[in-house]
Amino acid sequence: MNVSIKFLGAAGSVTGSKYLLRLDEEQILVDCGLFQGHKELRLRNWAGLPIDISSIGTVIITHAHIDHCGYLPRLVKDGFKGKILCTRATAELMPIMLKDAARLQEEEADFAYRQGYSRHSKPEPLFTVEDAEAVKNLIHGIELHHNCPIGKRASIEFFKSGHILGASSAQITLLGERQSKKIVFSGDIGRFNDPVMSDPEMFDQADAVVMESTYGDRNNPSEKVGEELAAVIHDALLRGGPIIIPAFAVGRTQVLLFHLQKLISNKEIPELPVFVDSPMAISVTNLYERHPEWHKIEVVKDHNELISIFDSANIHYCNTSQSSKALNNLKKPCIIISASGMCTGGRILHHLFHRLPDPSATILFTGYQAAGTRGRDILEGTPSIKIFGQYVGIRCQVRVVNGLSAHADQTELLKWAGAIKKGPKKVFITHGEPSVAKGFADFLKQKLGWDPMIPEYQETCLLFEGI
Ligand SMILES: [Zn+2]
Repeated sequence: MNVSIKFLGAAGSVTGSKYLLRLDEEQILVDCGLFQGHKELRLRNWAGLPIDISSIGTVIITHAHIDHCGYLPRLVKDGFKGKILCTRATAELMPIMLKDAARLQEEEADFAYRQGYSRHSKPEPLFTVEDAEAVKNLIHGIELHHNCPIGKRASIEFFKSGHILGASSAQITLLGERQSKKIVFSGDIGRFNDPVMSDPEMFDQADAVVMESTYGDRNNPSEKVGEELAAVIHDALLRGGPIIIPAFAVGRTQVLLFHLQKLISNKEIPELPVFVDSPMAISVTNLYERHPEWHKIEVVKDHNELISIFDSANIHYCNTSQSSKALNNLKKPCIIISASGMCTGGRILHHLFHRLPDPSATILFTGYQAAGTRGRDILEGTPSIKIFGQYVGIRCQVRVVNGLSAHADQTELLKWAGAIKKGPKKVFITHGEPSVAKGFADFLKQKLGWDPMIPEYQETCLLFEGI
């Protein structure tokens, strides 16, 4: 059997993760992410996959972030009928994520139509809620560490990668006529010693590795996160305005709630109201309570209900759009956590629209902002950004707290890679901006003596010949 891999995303970018494994005639797609950020990247979502979709038998999803699974509705719409395999927690989380992404697409298209700011006469969403619903029936959740066959030539086993609820590294065993080979897809690797998420599991052997490198160029100390958050909050209190935190609904929101509650209970900050303004973040917070094996937050059963720190009295969940809009009139200090994390869509946009021009307000970034997103522009000090077709001046405070990342930093990525003692012959560095991926590949070469390759978009590489 010959095995090749084609890089259909997260090659030269951090979004659109899609790796196509070809085992002679059989095809397995690992991750099926949406491209986000720069327009030229987003246009790839519309162009359709440059492969024959009907020949893909199985899709494996490492985790439920949209840059890893957000293209599924299109894939299914375009004819994919096989199985989608992922961990059990991802199987529950993914439909929530996809539905939300579809709703955002629909809302954006509708808004563009109503405001007449689209260049298209009738802007269409990339996929609809109905398309996202159609994915659900194909999803199969698999127990961690359970070896599950994929056809006759391969099997899959999921391991925890930390990062977010349900996030995994996928180990695919290829069963050739002469030899078997293991290929490990890192997925997004989380942090070691994270206060909330479990540690990433490591591998001692792999014949080939496809490894992410989002933060391959930096070290993010996490010990000072509480202190830094408290400092930003105290400054914001002096200004008297609200603190707006754009945050991914999954993972980042829950970690922020954890840190804020800890600061409040240690009396390091006053008991401020915290508004979680993202319906998805609310559903996901409930999932954290239902899947305690993935994290370290204490969940107890009280009168048949699962409760945790997420149920504290000062945390308010905005379920309706009225309660979300009502926050625009709030003048007192408070914390508003809303999605999307990179300000590309969602309720965060109306908060930014109202608060960016207000010098008493603070916008706090706690996560990665990809090039080309509004979040990145604000962070880089642009004087104004376009929201709902209008330019909005930025006069609020812009602050950053870094250590909250759900991505392993350079040292942690090295720890993960270094655990693979029996040398991988092929190593591919993906999911990083080009200069970061290059720097990280050089770093691995120097530290581990590996010879990693940085694949280009749509590049195909032979992995194993005649196995
Ligand atoms: Zn991720």
